[in-house]
Amino acid sequence: MARYKGAVCKLCRRETQKLFLKGRKCYTEKCPVDRRAYPPGQHGPAQVRRRKQSEYAVQLREKQKVKRIYGLHEKQFRTLFEKANHREGITGENMLISLESRLDNIVFRMGFAASRAAARQLVRHRHIEVNGRTLDVPSAQMGPGDEIAVRAKDKDLMLVQESLESRTRPALVDWLALDEKNRVGRMTRRPTRQDIPMAVQEQLIVELYSK
Ligand code: SF4
Repeated sequence: MARYKGAVCKLCRRETQKLFLKGRKCYTEKCPVDRRAYPPGQHGPAQVRRRKQSEYAVQLREKQKVKRIYGLHEKQFRTLFEKANHREGITGENMLISLESRLDNIVFRMGFAASRAAARQLVRHRHIEVNGRTLDVPSAQMGPGDEIAVRAKDKDLMLVQESLESRTRPALVDWLALDEKNRVGRMTRRPTRQDIPMAVQEQLIVELYSK
């Protein structure tokens, strides 16, 4: 699967808000969003001055924002949305719950990596085990009871240690349990929308894809 290789700060600037895509660096570096609060490019400042965005533009920006936070490409995101749409319940919530249940997101939420991109790399490089077996698929869906651990011989990996000791590490969500010393965690239950600490209007994405 292709991956975005450009400057990640540009993605935040395009959404004119911090998406915290660089992990700890977002708290230590001078964030470009603070210095230039307008989209990149020649016409960036003019886009902020423009008074009203069309309904489509608002929906599109919300979708792009969520896609970028979780580091998905359009095709992956669309597939995940379609699956969420076919499940019982509210489509937007199903979509967010599926995003949160991805293995790379859970590795990030447990604090084994400072960002979702770093978590994806940990998974891809086979440092993560699920229920005792190495799993290198970042998009794998985890369920209640699944045990996620850093592989035994990688428990002292500097990247993992630094991330766990970081002062900027987000608090552990209450649908995950973590044994930090042994680098092992468990998904205790499926998250609900209320458990997802993210200011996202998922309904806008549903409206966009329903056109
Ligand atoms: Fe986004 Fe972090 Fe870059 Fe700021 S420093 S623009 S929050 S990735």
